[in-house]
Amino acid sequence: MKNKQFWFVVGSQHLYGPEVLETVAARAAEMAAKMNDSPLIPCAIVYKATVKTCEEITALMKEANYDDNCYGVITWCHTFSPSKMWINGLELLQKPWCHFATQYNRKIPNEEIDMDFMNLNQAAHGDREHGFIGARLRKPRKIVMGYWQDEGPLKELGLWMRSAVGVAESRSLKVCRFGDNMRNVAVTEGDKVEVQRKLDWQVNTWAVGDLVKEMNAITDAEIDALMAEYAQKYDMNTDKVENVRYQAREEIAMKRFLDRIGAKAFTNTFEDLYGMEQLPGLASQRLMEQGYGYGGEGDWKVSAMTRIVKAMTEGMGGGSAFMEDYTYHLKEGEEYSLGAHMLEVCPSVAADKPRIECHHLGIGMNEKDPARLVFEGKAGPAVVASLIDMGGRLRLIVQDIEAVKPIMDMPNLPVARVMWRAYPDLCTGAKMWILTGGAHHTVLSYDATAQMLEDWAEMMDIEYVHIGKETTMEGLKQQLLLADLAWKLK
Ligand code: MN
Repeated sequence: MKNKQFWFVVGSQHLYGPEVLETVAARAAEMAAKMNDSPLIPCAIVYKATVKTCEEITALMKEANYDDNCYGVITWCHTFSPSKMWINGLELLQKPWCHFATQYNRKIPNEEIDMDFMNLNQAAHGDREHGFIGARLRKPRKIVMGYWQDEGPLKELGLWMRSAVGVAESRSLKVCRFGDNMRNVAVTEGDKVEVQRKLDWQVNTWAVGDLVKEMNAITDAEIDALMAEYAQKYDMNTDKVENVRYQAREEIAMKRFLDRIGAKAFTNTFEDLYGMEQLPGLASQRLMEQGYGYGGEGDWKVSAMTRIVKAMTEGMGGGSAFMEDYTYHLKEGEEYSLGAHMLEVCPSVAADKPRIECHHLGIGMNEKDPARLVFEGKAGPAVVASLIDMGGRLRLIVQDIEAVKPIMDMPNLPVARVMWRAYPDLCTGAKMWILTGGAHHTVLSYDATAQMLEDWAEMMDIEYVHIGKETTMEGLKQQLLLADLAWKLK
């Protein structure tokens, strides 16, 4: 994360003379250095320039667009910076933009303040001119306001940087589909051309037979080495060692295949396992743990979103997983949702050491009982997110949830599970989710917040719907109706 750069660009003008501009530049460099020391700032803030003319700004924005190390631009107005000179550059800017409304001094110095001080320290003045041009250009931008050494604004800035990392991930993402989507399912479908136009995802299919060929080339020594890692990281709760070894073979082969084609996300389906003995369970879980996106039943949208959320939240430590709403617990006053999948839940969300188990899987063409990791999910606040294709546009739906330690041990459930309460409450939340069209497949994340995903959706220019504590049915219906009209005009 620290290798990813955000350019700190300070707006000014020539009016004040060279001395003021030198002070501005020195302070901007000092601020960047100090902010980089904060644990709340995940990426590098690089002080780039104090800009004074239209030509300087235009050249800098062009450079930002073409520099792959630049993940976004943070602008700040120490002094007043007339905004007509920003128009050409901002119109060209294709990277995420944050307007950081802050000022160098925390307090108004009672004795010291005079007109020289006012000319140098006029963020309040400059921010409004800068804000106007953002609004006038209809340019999506994050606005962070507050003192640059305080926890609140630094946290907000840091999380926005993570969303911007998600933008860059989206712009270069390749999704490998092993086989097609599950037959007849609607919500896992989508317009792959539109998705590439809008989000830049390259979504393509490879034959399962090509993966099987890769699997056949894996040596016993490679499998032995991976089995040793399994033994160290997980409890081996099965004596079907050959089945586990088969998953190790699948893991190595899939990783090799994905890395060769440059894909960071993949899908498969139980309906197409031609030449394979087991649906990859443990193997898919392991790849997710290493940061790859995954979607079951050919669901490439959720696979890509899982990868993007993992990229955004790298190093945060809470965990993010492909998830599926399975079944409800509807005891009055004690309502919960139980999420799981037939095999593939990412162990990054496990509360304890996962167990490797082998069980019969009736669905699909499994010749052998597939090995999988079984565990309970952590307790704590989280979100579930679903990207759907509305026909002509994409909609990202995010719901706040509170994961709990499962209230029963469910000893005969042979898969990983997460239990949660949804906001505003389970039944109202489910009604809202259903009304909005959210899928049964989601990305569940203990790290990403609704705000981070909203920022990401805004930067990608797609519709965003949030279901949280304060959401009302009336408000949601109104929002969906108006969004339908607005997105037709866009
Ligand atoms: Mn599924």
